[in-house]
Amino acid sequence: MTKPTLDHIGIAVKSLDAAKIYEALGLTIEHIETVETQGVRTAFLAAGDAMIELLEPSGPQSTVAKFIEKRGEGIHHICFRVDDIEAQLARLQQQGYRLINESPVPGAHGCRVAFLHPAAGNGVLIELSEKQ
Ligand code: ZN
Repeated sequence: MTKPTLDHIGIAVKSLDAAKIYEALGLTIEHIETVETQGVRTAFLAAGDAMIELLEPSGPQSTVAKFIEKRGEGIHHICFRVDDIEAQLARLQQQGYRLINESPVPGAHGCRVAFLHPAAGNGVLIELSEKQ
């Protein structure tokens, strides 16, 4: 098993115009994609080996819309790239960690992703992502 690497930090925003501050820092938007399964429009800005993922709700029913309503805009999740997502999920579950997705779902960039329950990450929502 290869060690997980930090893939991206997800930030909940009302609008992808929030990219402006990162562009002012010198980052550029590399990819914009609507992820229907997550109810979001995403924009990715590369920052070295990791990325910033901006998450704009695609509708009022989006979990990101509910997040913003409750907690305001801000850091939503951190994502680790793994190469064996099923094995990781099984191992975590075996160790008693709560999962939101017990099996991977389609994410941005054609990746397969799964979220752990924030209770498992001391209030931090952790996403695992495996590249296809
Ligand atoms: Zn993400």
